Amino acid sequence: MNFHKIKHFYKFCHLISLYLYNKYNESAGVIMYRLFFNGNEGEEKIMCVEAIKEINEKYNDYNQMPDAAQYLLKRLNISTVPTPIVKIVQEAGFSVRRQQFKNESLSGIIAIDEELKSTLGSSKIISVNNQDNLGHQRFTIAHEFAHYIFDFDRAKSITYYDTYCTDDDFIEKPNEKRANFFAANLLMPADLFKKEFSEQVVPNDMYETTAKLAKIFQVSAAAVKIRLDELGLSVSG
Ligand SMILES: [Zn+2]
Repeated sequence: MNFHKIKHFYKFCHLISLYLYNKYNESAGVIMYRLFFNGNEGEEKIMCVEAIKEINEKYNDYNQMPDAAQYLLKRLNISTVPTPIVKIVQEAGFSVRRQQFKNESLSGIIAIDEELKSTLGSSKIISVNNQDNLGHQRFTIAHEFAHYIFDFDRAKSITYYDTYCTDDDFIEKPNEKRANFFAANLLMPADLFKKEFSEQVVPNDMYETTAKLAKIFQVSAAAVKIRLDELGLSVSG
């Protein structure tokens, strides 16, 4: 085969694997990609899809969420904060939208449906309320991403929808609690959070300490306070 033919052959394989990846979003495209393309632009996407599959198989319980989040970050070579949550979900194939919702208490929506592709240009969408603060928007994305990993039953269904409201009783539901705990661990990994807390803490000043940590982790002050409780960290000297 001369160079010209090889180039065309590679282009052909590239298109086939992209097609398989987009259509099935896993195995077939991944195998094709691995066979022909090592370490190129699609690698991060493949890593993310594979990691999600492994996490879905390995972790399930609420108490395993710290390990699940840590595993994902490690697989994606992310060791600093703020966690690039938009990039992560985009690598998982999602289109992220910020929009104004009629219902102000609605924080976000996740929609997985092939039917959406023709109207919205993507079959995997996470929409967040642009009226929420940026930190909360990031948390919402991570929350919906958790549903995608743990609650979307790929074997039984090809569609999945979920809405995230913060002022509902439903945040007490086990799946919602798990999604929130995963999101907290993904955006505020325990080891990094403890380290930053020890360096940033302003003794006896909850407001100042929370504000500093919220800025570092790019989350809301409310999320920082919950995380401080979860990790048993106190500002009182
Ligand atoms: Zn939810």
